[in-house]
Amino acid sequence: DTSKLTRIDDTTWQIDPTGDMRVPGIIFADEALIEAMDDKVAEQTANVARLPGIVQASYAMPDAHWGYGFPIGGVAAFDPDEGGVVSAGGVGFDVSCGVRSLLTGLTVADIRAVQERLADALAAQIPAGVGSRSGISLNRQEMDAMLVGGAAWAVEQGWGEPEDLERIEEMGRMAGADPDCVSEQAKKRQRREMGTLGSGNHYLEIQAVEKVFDAETAAAFGLVEGEVLVTIHCGSRGLGHQIGTEFLRDMLPAAAEAGIRLPERELACAPIHSPIGQRYLGAMRAAINCALANREILGHFAREVFDRFFPEHRLPLLYDVSHNTCKVETHTVGGRPRQLYVHRKGATRAFGPAHSELPEALRGEGQPVLIGGSMGTGSHVLVGMGTGGKGFYSACHGAGRAMSRHAALKRWHGRQVVDDLAERGILIRSPSARGVAEEAPGAYKDVDQVVEVAERAGLARRVARLTPLICVKG
Ligand code: 5GP
Ligand code: MN
Ligand code: MN
Repeated sequence: DTSKLTRIDDTTWQIDPTGDMRVPGIIFADEALIEAMDDKVAEQTANVARLPGIVQASYAMPDAHWGYGFPIGGVAAFDPDEGGVVSAGGVGFDVSCGVRSLLTGLTVADIRAVQERLADALAAQIPAGVGSRSGISLNRQEMDAMLVGGAAWAVEQGWGEPEDLERIEEMGRMAGADPDCVSEQAKKRQRREMGTLGSGNHYLEIQAVEKVFDAETAAAFGLVEGEVLVTIHCGSRGLGHQIGTEFLRDMLPAAAEAGIRLPERELACAPIHSPIGQRYLGAMRAAINCALANREILGHFAREVFDRFFPEHRLPLLYDVSHNTCKVETHTVGGRPRQLYVHRKGATRAFGPAHSELPEALRGEGQPVLIGGSMGTGSHVLVGMGTGGKGFYSACHGAGRAMSRHAALKRWHGRQVVDDLAERGILIRSPSARGVAEEAPGAYKDVDQVVEVAERAGLARRVARLTPLICVKG
């Protein structure tokens, strides 16, 4: 039902503010994507617009679909000086879930020559699936050091290289993390989960650069047609999930106490300047560090495997970026720069060239925006745009689901999906046939269409398209 949407231009749809909406809702999509989008996206985007202190607009990216409270693909910024809130549901359960890509300098032919053995070696080295373990176990002190130190901590422990850090958001270490705000239960769940992929749509994938859209940027990023990347998608595992669960629960009475009228329970939130708001931020930032450390360790495991097959090749990090966060950022709204709490849930930060948060080596081009598609179709690398800045410098984070896990499970058999992909030269290694069926390529939207719209909408520009060769799946 697109009747409540006003079309602003080719790729922008507005939900005009009605009732107690404080700002409009904006959905970035073309006609085909908006038609296919589930109705819940517009409804949830409008509901977020009713929260206190929201500024400018409540946004939904082109890959948006239904989420818990906030849509997946939702972006919203709140001003602490105007009663702004922080919301656990606006970050998501998998705090700081994100993507990193490593360059290999290897060609598709290099991989084809060892593809089966490499897939098996990666599957043996990368712990995947529910409750998977890596052999790393943290005591109390180590846990707290990890929660404060993030990827920088992992590098100190020997899992990763110092040069990686400048290619990770926040230089690999999120400031303001407070392990004392993280419950014992959350820490307990994480004790043996560092360096694991987890389940669902998390993956470690070997991908070929199939097509370059922007030769100059691709060259600066080190992306060469016919060469191969290692890409890792995962987050903060049990720790982040526990934090999300606990704070969603505790923010509900806190919202009532603060006199916030919630459009629905799932939008539980707390004023940024409240004790629970501050506790959530301390815990959420610790979970960001957990995710950054986790991806750093997984990258190290991948390097160990590649070192056995290709000892002469280093695997430098292209970039690591999260898509489930709340970050304090300065944005100009209403003609003045303001410090805002930007929630991105299933949305990727997409800073343009010259941004001070980017390392020297990327300032000329802008931030790499790493986008998953599916294990059978493709993925993309985009770049943040200087002239962009729409949706607080955000872009899509994937293709987005076209059907529910449940529907996918009815439609496909995991074994069959694996066999069909093997026919096409794509090797899947997963402990869960059920998981593979839920994640069948057909369960996702067309990623090419989504990123093309993201580009036309001015969110981020396409740099290269990637195709999968090996996918180790949770
Ligand atoms: P999410 O962060 O919402 O869990 O997933 C992000 C995106 O990853 C999805 O929207 C989907 O497009 C993509 N994705 C899911 N599974 C795979 C996979 O196995 N390989 C690749 N390349 N992308 C995937
Ligand atoms: Mn995740
Ligand atoms: Mn994710």
